[in-house]
Amino acid sequence: MQTRLARNAGFCAGVRRAVKIAEEAADEGGRWYSLGPLVHNDAVVDNLKAKGIIPVNRLEDIQVGEDAGVIIRSHGVPPEIIEQAREKGLGIKDATCPLVKRVHEIVASLRGEGYEIVVYGDGGHPEVQAIKGWSDNQARVIASVDEACQLQVVDKLGVVSQTTKDEEEFYAIVDALLPLAKEIRVFNTICSATRKRQQTAREISLGADLIVVLGDPKSSNTATLARECKNTGVKTLQLRDASEIPANCLQGVSTVAITAGASTPDWIIKEVLDRMTEFEEKNQQELEQETINEPEINSGQEKTIGNEAVTEEAITQLASEEEREESFAKMEAEMADFETPSRGDIIKGTVIQVQDDEVMVDVGGKSEGIIPLREMSLKDINSAKDLVDVGDEIEVMVLKWDDDGTILLSKKKVDSQKVLNKLGEDFNAGSIIEGTVTGTVKGGLLVDVGMVAFLPASHVEDGYVKNLDQYIGRTLQFKIIEFNRNKRRGSQIVLSRKELVAEEKNRLKKEFWENIEEGQTRLGRVRRIVDYGAFIDLGGFEGLLHVSEMEHRRVEHPSDILNEGDEIDVYILALDHEKERVSLSRKKLLKSPWEIAQEKYHEGDIVEGTVVRIAPFGAFVELDPGVDGLVHISQMANYRVEKPEDVVSVNEKIKIKIISIDPEQKRIGLSIKQVQDEEEANEVQQYLDEQEDENIE
Ligand code: SF4
Repeated sequence: MQTRLARNAGFCAGVRRAVKIAEEAADEGGRWYSLGPLVHNDAVVDNLKAKGIIPVNRLEDIQVGEDAGVIIRSHGVPPEIIEQAREKGLGIKDATCPLVKRVHEIVASLRGEGYEIVVYGDGGHPEVQAIKGWSDNQARVIASVDEACQLQVVDKLGVVSQTTKDEEEFYAIVDALLPLAKEIRVFNTICSATRKRQQTAREISLGADLIVVLGDPKSSNTATLARECKNTGVKTLQLRDASEIPANCLQGVSTVAITAGASTPDWIIKEVLDRMTEFEEKNQQELEQETINEPEINSGQEKTIGNEAVTEEAITQLASEEEREESFAKMEAEMADFETPSRGDIIKGTVIQVQDDEVMVDVGGKSEGIIPLREMSLKDINSAKDLVDVGDEIEVMVLKWDDDGTILLSKKKVDSQKVLNKLGEDFNAGSIIEGTVTGTVKGGLLVDVGMVAFLPASHVEDGYVKNLDQYIGRTLQFKIIEFNRNKRRGSQIVLSRKELVAEEKNRLKKEFWENIEEGQTRLGRVRRIVDYGAFIDLGGFEGLLHVSEMEHRRVEHPSDILNEGDEIDVYILALDHEKERVSLSRKKLLKSPWEIAQEKYHEGDIVEGTVVRIAPFGAFVELDPGVDGLVHISQMANYRVEKPEDVVSVNEKIKIKIISIDPEQKRIGLSIKQVQDEEEANEVQQYLDEQEDENIE
């Protein structure tokens, strides 16, 4: 006989969570009461009772005291019950299933927005009563399409469902409600655990001879599950536990499918499987016995063969103890999630442990997820501790399920998707994005824009760039010019600055011409040096500093005094708006040699100079570049000089005395004769002084 166990049979995550909360409360100590049976399963309730969790029907039944507390079961309660429990000073452990809580929130929000509310469900079910409570008890509960059709027309209608109801029926009701409201908002609040359980039951029933649905008769979802199974046409038995298995139910059955409601614990499923194995073995022994006892009655050959076939099938198809354990482990993993996530799903989780090389995440069920360090970030990081802390809520992508039920997760892939989505939007909108240049590659630069993008060399500026290395480490703005999202080969993002740079230049140029005036002094940067001068970037526009305007003295070549990149002050000499030309001067801002000479030299000073030119009336002597003085022929010697060349020659360095300065005429009078006179007088004086010293001795 083949036994098929539905992989998501038994406790759903909401019930498992509620039982866990109750067991933890029992461990904590004190007196704990569950408001109503914690789950619709007497066996589970009895088990919890044995641990000290007492079910009561009303808060009034609880003996109030410091150590008393109430556990709200997975069905939830109306808000006023929580309020009353607080007022009584009871401890509260809220085990309302998060999916049911979501229905409460939807209903409260719809009510706040003025919607009439319809709940599809069983009016007497505690979950529905709680939902109604969250609508200020104004919600209408309907259980069928017929009831839906009887509703009156309203303006605004909100529709939700009890979480364990049938989805097809829900949509049929929604269809019936559509004509009855001007505006209708529909929330499919049917729990996917229920939906999946029903779907799996249908799948395993295919070709089966018998379906066994395990669950308490009070359980709504078990009843729905049993109805679904009956609808498949396969004989269906709804059993509370192993004790209810009819002794002869497996006779003539070659395949049995087993499923269980959301409030059925694992141990009941296991007991049923064990009991069925026993029945099967007993049946087989009886058949074998019959074969031995009645060889003449039955066609011995045929019966023996038939029995062997049955035995073989039983051995191969009925799960061994070990296999069943495995099946349970897998089933637990499946049941642990509200919606068992599949590969590629993005889910939210809470970080529960952080190590350098991995992060453990609670993804909402019994199974835990692991994010290895390599899946933590798009950037290289040394430790996961740099990125997350315990308690952080993060989004992760499911990569795969491991055999032990652990889920391998990736945060990096979620980050990558987010970044790609954003970049895709930026590309479509033509937005400007920011990124940091991280390195060079053949033909361009690599830029970190949340992920690595390529910037071709021809798009770095609006002209040719010789040295790309200068951009490394700089954060700049870009536009995306190519965006190819490709899962297999990796997405390709190509950037450009060309257009942005040109736009910025135009803006600066416009601003420049609006503000520039002749006579201004501006700070500029030497961009380019040519033989006849240098082009100076004035922040938006370039002006020419001619070589003749660089210094007061003659400059042989601009590179003698300037280097590319130098920052210098320049004077706006002339502007040609039409031709967009700017002439600059540097020397206008420098002191003239005469101004310097005026401060530096005084009448009577004896200085050194170089003979630069000889004339019939004397010799011109350069004191500083651009500052020449004249030694008249009469001042050349203390004897009569026929020709200046008799005393000095060009390029000769000589000592001269400044005998006059005329700033207005820019003339300096010099004398060689007076230097010589002074020197002679000094020598005579020195000689006399020495004589005197000798006489004293
Ligand atoms: S069936 Fe769904 S909604 Fe109900 S308790 Fe279980 S998980 Fe929650």
